[in-house]
Amino acid sequence: MSDDKALTPRSEDFSAWYNEVIMRARLADYSPVRGCMVIRPEGYAIWEQMQQALDGMFKDTGHENAYFPLFIPQSFLALEADHVEGFAPQTAVVTSAGGKELEEPLVVRPTSETIIYAMLAKWVQSWRDLPVLLNQWVNVVRWEMRTRLFLRTTEFLWQEGHTAHATQGEAEAEARLILGLYRRFMEEWMAMPVLTGAKTDSERFAGAVRTYALEALMQDNRALQAGTSHYLGQNFAKAFGVSFQTAEGGLDHVWSTSWGVSTRLIGGLIMTHSDDAGLVCPPRLARYQVVIVPIYRSDEQRSSVVEAGQHLRQELADAGIRVHLDDRDGMKPGAKYYEWETRGVPLRLELGPRDLEAGTVVMARRTGGKEPIPMAGAAAAVQAALEGFHRQLFEAARARREANSLRGADRAAFLEFIEGPGGFVYGGWCGSSACEAEIKTETKATIRVLPDEEFRSPTPPTTCLWCASPSVAEAVWAKAY
Ligand SMILES: [Zn+2]
Repeated sequence: MSDDKALTPRSEDFSAWYNEVIMRARLADYSPVRGCMVIRPEGYAIWEQMQQALDGMFKDTGHENAYFPLFIPQSFLALEADHVEGFAPQTAVVTSAGGKELEEPLVVRPTSETIIYAMLAKWVQSWRDLPVLLNQWVNVVRWEMRTRLFLRTTEFLWQEGHTAHATQGEAEAEARLILGLYRRFMEEWMAMPVLTGAKTDSERFAGAVRTYALEALMQDNRALQAGTSHYLGQNFAKAFGVSFQTAEGGLDHVWSTSWGVSTRLIGGLIMTHSDDAGLVCPPRLARYQVVIVPIYRSDEQRSSVVEAGQHLRQELADAGIRVHLDDRDGMKPGAKYYEWETRGVPLRLELGPRDLEAGTVVMARRTGGKEPIPMAGAAAAVQAALEGFHRQLFEAARARREANSLRGADRAAFLEFIEGPGGFVYGGWCGSSACEAEIKTETKATIRVLPDEEFRSPTPPTTCLWCASPSVAEAVWAKAY
């Protein structure tokens, strides 16, 4: 599409709008291989910011990065029964290489539990070798029929954490620790509010005892599973023979966890904040937090305004702000504004001859509103504005989520809501997977989480919203990506 044509509005076709935002902001493009995605520099810069923040949090909590191979012997997958059942239909398998048939086919990793446990069996002997707190930043392949940029692609980038512990309690605490850490990242970096809680058995990771998840509500009122943290019990340890001598001299299998977030988060970021003018990027993840646009008519004006812009850029950069001076000649300021808006830059500073005389610069927010600020001390003002911008995005997203949540629903209210505007529906659940499946078949809505206490309704529901049997837990339903 041409770069000056308006985007399809969200209200008209959300899916078309989403793709256009990505293409226009040059975040990603379609690959010659169906279902794969090329992440362009603008998109990869966001991923790098995400990686940096998360990696710091993992290391602060004692985790180490490592690398395990892309190829996994096919027989490994079969060792954990639920795991193979969950992943086998999605695997890509290499059967020949170097011009010869392989003796054993190799699976391109869909996730790395199996190969990591095969190695832990070798490395862990005693309680002194525990805990093992590993993470890796890699690509994985899961064959997908219907793909969407960032949200669902055959190959994607992620981090996968894998930990092994001497006790059940430690492993459970680890799974919860990571859930909290992911939540902090999603709120404090992505400005994306999330619900946390446990998945039901039918939505659990293949091979896990319990799966915790973070769920966000997108602007089209569909839920996005933004991350998961699994308590694996001893399932993989038993399948791969990862046992250790306990401090008391006995023998036990390790207790483990795995957890991951992926480039899908970029899709979540887009669908949470962006608008009909294009991408809106939260400041802490933006490649450029600020763009300075010089305004001039003559060559003489140009040299003084650009020079002042260079000083301003330096001052902001020295304060740790990611800033770009757009001094491209032969392009009107309005065209630059438009371009940086579609690319999601949080703040724009407009600097013209009259501003120079007055000792001011005009600060414009991506989400609307602009005012002059004094040049002296501009870095502090910009810093404050970036923080304010983050808070504004988060509050707006939370208010939107709450406005699109229905609590205490009965069957009729649930159906009307889910077939109508959609959103999060809080209601009682009888605990039966048959009931859950029936709802899914009839409405396509699934239980996103059994929410953690702070997200539950003040008055717990007493009956299942579908079958009216006694409720065993409050659940949150939505149609999901
Ligand atoms: Zn029921």
